[in-house]
Amino acid sequence: MPDRRAMLLCMDPSPSAPAGASADMLRPFSPPEQHIPRLRRALLDWFAVNQRRLPWRVNYTPYEVWVSEVMLQQTQMERGVDYFNRWMARFPDIAALAAADEEAVLRQWEGLGYYSRARHLLAAARKIVAEHGGVFPSDLEAIRALPGVGPYTAGAIASIAFGEKLPCVDANVERVIARVFDVDSPVKQDPAAGVVRRWALRLVPEGRAREHNQAMMELGALICRKKPRCEVCPLAEFCISRHLGIAEQRPVPGKRAVIKPVQAVTGVLRRAGLVFVQKRPPSGVWGNLWEFPGGRVEPGESPEAAVVREFMEETAFAVRVAETFGIIRHGYTTYRLTLHCFGLDLAAAGQTPAAQLTAATECRWVRPADLEALAMPAAHRKLADRLFAGKNQ
Ligand code: SF4
Repeated sequence: MPDRRAMLLCMDPSPSAPAGASADMLRPFSPPEQHIPRLRRALLDWFAVNQRRLPWRVNYTPYEVWVSEVMLQQTQMERGVDYFNRWMARFPDIAALAAADEEAVLRQWEGLGYYSRARHLLAAARKIVAEHGGVFPSDLEAIRALPGVGPYTAGAIASIAFGEKLPCVDANVERVIARVFDVDSPVKQDPAAGVVRRWALRLVPEGRAREHNQAMMELGALICRKKPRCEVCPLAEFCISRHLGIAEQRPVPGKRAVIKPVQAVTGVLRRAGLVFVQKRPPSGVWGNLWEFPGGRVEPGESPEAAVVREFMEETAFAVRVAETFGIIRHGYTTYRLTLHCFGLDLAAAGQTPAAQLTAATECRWVRPADLEALAMPAAHRKLADRLFAGKNQ
């Protein structure tokens, strides 16, 4: 195995190494290009043989690359492929997506979370139709100008769909670079974030951006995982942290997000075979999704009391608890939700009063079977399925 100095010959983030970078990052090695062509070749050769067959890797259309990148930002590959295939069956091209209504788009996205991404996809498709004649723009600036397209997604589309010499730096790539080049401070923060970005760019070979970027991501997903499989890694020869025996200490973790537990309630109010649902406001979490009303349990409050209070506050309905449907647990962003679920009746018999909505833009009494067509947050969908799925109501 080569010694550390020999390995470090390829470490040269200059000329723009940031202030505060570690001594190793800044050491002036030369010639910096010595190992890079071999590293690129080893990576591309590995990818040619080991890449997974994925539906967006058949034609590499910008639309497919875009949708797949947005979907995969928060979900596992297997699940992402299922969602992608269903999405493409429903919205096979930009024109079909642009012509869809938001309800259908949110329903298709349901379960992936981060619903603003689905709304942005729709808005961007409409912009492409309105301003680019329905043809996905190839110019980086025009790609960045699309709603919801940040630097990562723009780089992914420009490089993977159009072959632009740009890097894609997702968490997999961060991990690979942090290990190969022994980046010794948290990669989400500068100076390390800048070092990773510059290495990512520098490694992209002329004319092979598509394969190279995907190979980096694939290596991170399949080989350079949290527990690295260095023994079968095509970059083992070049990897400084492996050479130093510290691969599992890279990347250096940053501050962990604190997961906050949330106790909440929701109630299924029924009347004459119909159930009450309301539509959340467009902004904020679960914007424009349909839900059973409810909210957080206040300190010292019982879940039963909370659901009665929430209904009064959100709809002005006086309700009483008729049934207990148990608990649904669901994690989203940095929250761990414990949702207490109830079946409710109106407290007073007689004519149903009109709802006075304070936390929604719209409400409906629907047949349970009609819930299937509404986009709902995942926990509410779980409840609806638990109560009504397969019961022909
Ligand atoms: S040698 Fe190990 S640590 Fe280095 S890139 Fe490969 S899998 Fe990751």
